[in-house]
Amino acid sequence: MHTSDTNHSQDPHALNKNHPEKSSQQSSQPVLQNPSSNTLWYPYAQMQNLELNLEVVEANGVYLTMKDGKQLVDGISSWWCVTHGYNHPELNQAMFEQAQKFSHVMLGGLKNQVTESFAQKLVEITPDGLNHVFFSDSGSVGVEVAIKMALQYFFNQGNQNKTRIVALERAYHGDTTACMSVCDPAEGMHKMFHGITPEQFFLPAPTSGFAPSEDALEKEIAHAKTLFEEHGDTIAAVIVEPLLQGAGGFNIYSPEYLNRLKALCEEHNILLIFDEVATGFGRTGKLFAADHTNISPDIMVLAKGLTAGYVGHAATIASTQVFNAFLSDSPSKAFMHGPTFMGNPLACAIGLKAIEIFERDNYLEKIATIESILKEELLGFEHDEIVETRVLGATGAIEVKEARFHHGIQEFAAERGVWIRPFERYIYTMPPYVITPEELRKITQVMKDWFQRER
Ligand SMILES: *Cc1c(COP(=O)(O)O)cnc(C)c1O
Repeated sequence: MHTSDTNHSQDPHALNKNHPEKSSQQSSQPVLQNPSSNTLWYPYAQMQNLELNLEVVEANGVYLTMKDGKQLVDGISSWWCVTHGYNHPELNQAMFEQAQKFSHVMLGGLKNQVTESFAQKLVEITPDGLNHVFFSDSGSVGVEVAIKMALQYFFNQGNQNKTRIVALERAYHGDTTACMSVCDPAEGMHKMFHGITPEQFFLPAPTSGFAPSEDALEKEIAHAKTLFEEHGDTIAAVIVEPLLQGAGGFNIYSPEYLNRLKALCEEHNILLIFDEVATGFGRTGKLFAADHTNISPDIMVLAKGLTAGYVGHAATIASTQVFNAFLSDSPSKAFMHGPTFMGNPLACAIGLKAIEIFERDNYLEKIATIESILKEELLGFEHDEIVETRVLGATGAIEVKEARFHHGIQEFAAERGVWIRPFERYIYTMPPYVITPEELRKITQVMKDWFQRER
């Protein structure tokens, strides 16, 4: 294991080597090759040479319609959130009906039925013990809330020592500051900021898969054991993406690892946070990744699928034990947090309807079908460039040796009627759950054809 403080010194010169202002590229005059497209600053993109040729004018079900009339199957559910497909008549109706009552009303000092009902529903469907819902507006903020809640849980009990968070290497937990501090410090996209975000501890990511041998599991969990024995009194919480590390590279690990991690956490008075922003709402084959385990986390974060991709929203759900630590005669022990749009009634109305449809139309069965097709199509697919193919629930990924192998795949897929977006060494699909087997096979076929194309 390594901790952030051993790998990265506080020496400002150590930072400079990664700082963009100091990099050599910056010394030449930046040239905008496509000046008309620079008004809107796009995500995760070098704007100097960004060229966007695909313009969406409509979307229905699993299809995105482009300006030229071409339709693409969305293989990645608009960053994993459009679980029910686009332009869903019932979700539209739920949204319109709520808009005609009120689109938004503050949660400070005012209650409203739809936000209360959504919180109630989330408590019903999440693992036992998670009983108190704090809403916010995005996954990153939901994670910030979880971290702040974990720290204050100890502060409120007079413990000022537990100030550190433990995360897994390869983790991705969002883009805001506390989130960046728990993303992989060495290879993650935020590594440039390492050393100026709060110092956290990192454990090696478990890599022996969904059903490891007892031996492999012992070795993996031993890292946590050693860290907690050495530093447990300074650790407030461990945060993990349970079972499936998403944006850090689709690493799949075992429910048993999480069971053991929870036991160790309890032994050392450390809270366990499940960031289920990506894994929640069926993505791993069960409603929540936690449902594969025997345990409940102390805090769980939901976003992405929470509103079926209609509007940004997040829920940070705490156990009663965590919640109770904020109850006091003293106002200073209250949780001082309150995003303007928290509990937004449109988001809650859509979220409630999305869960109703998920249950009524048995989405878990659809997801099981998706999983079996992905396994059939991707597992065992081999090529010199491929390191591994992995499938869990409605997620299928191919890892290659070098990121540049994917150069051009987006255009290749779009020409064949499929929208996918690889990153780093991964090409993957996380389709909407309403996809048909034929549409899904079209996606996996394009992924495989990329490897077998004439070059
Ligand atoms: C996407 C993601 C986030 C961040 O959510 P945003 O809504 O994009 O802020 C956090 N954690 C995980 C695991 C994610 O996949």
